[in-house]
Amino acid sequence: MRKNLRTVLRVENLRKYYGSIKAVDGVSFIVEKGQLVSILGPNGAGKTTTIEIIEGLRTPDHGTIEYFGTFNTITNEVKERLGVCFQENFFFEELTVLETLKLYSSLYNRSLPLNEIITMFDLEESLKKRVRHLSGGQKQRLAVALAFVNDPELVLLDEPTVGLDPHARHHLWDVIKHFKSLGKSIILTTHYMDEAHQLSDMVYIMDSGKIIAWGSPQELITSSGLNAVIEFPATHAHLFEETVVTGDVAIISTPDAPGAIKRLLDVGVENFIVRHPTLEDVFLKLTGRRID
Ligand code: ATP
Repeated sequence: MRKNLRTVLRVENLRKYYGSIKAVDGVSFIVEKGQLVSILGPNGAGKTTTIEIIEGLRTPDHGTIEYFGTFNTITNEVKERLGVCFQENFFFEELTVLETLKLYSSLYNRSLPLNEIITMFDLEESLKKRVRHLSGGQKQRLAVALAFVNDPELVLLDEPTVGLDPHARHHLWDVIKHFKSLGKSIILTTHYMDEAHQLSDMVYIMDSGKIIAWGSPQELITSSGLNAVIEFPATHAHLFEETVVTGDVAIISTPDAPGAIKRLLDVGVENFIVRHPTLEDVFLKLTGRRID
């Protein structure tokens, strides 16, 4: 059979159990060259375990991973071609940002010129600061930058925008888009729906160790069959069948938004929102829960 040279990662039927906890329970997906694939799911869904198995940090109980169409294990050559940003990062706190960048780039045979990384991640101002003096957001930015020092073909980013302020978050989105435009691939885990929607070519929605749905963001929304979504106070949830209540908000999806709005107005409810369905609604429909 001919290999598809565009497939940079193929994960098949991955399983990892901890006693009775099925952290990863039969996960399969592929990542093509130039694609951003996100694994979207709530805390405890199994995203980090999946990513850490791919990174070679955990051993699966079952399943196979093929890297770059060639390798069935994570060899040194594979590591040279991967970039990794862990969910929790450990730094040498006494090193400066510049020293940290130099140290990491010295670990690889191939690395990007450091000034490219520094500009890309807006690190100029903190270069001389010791890591222990960085704010949480600055540390996170450094952690993500380190995933790119070896000019990798595939980058794994485990919840990279947690702890970033909105500006830094959007800046990182731009960096990721730029990286993708160079024909590189990214796996991103996130529980931010907007992030997955904005950045992903393919989204794998994960819950309780399993992939429960996949597709492009728009495919997921279209195939969910959701129509206009209306949010209104949960005290009026009884007005409609199939209302989902989360906290004090009731949510319905309806093909007849004008009819539903009239019904709300007839009983004096004016504080409602009508909007397009999002990946959050898809998750809610699939699981009956909000993602966070
Ligand atoms: P988060 O977003 O909180 O990191 P996640 O989707 O990445 O969540 P995992 O960290 O992969 O989820 O955890 C999946 C499940 O496996 C959870 O129930 C977790 O408690 C469990 N788990 C993970 N690592 C271990 C371990 N070493 N021993 C026992 N259980 C574990």
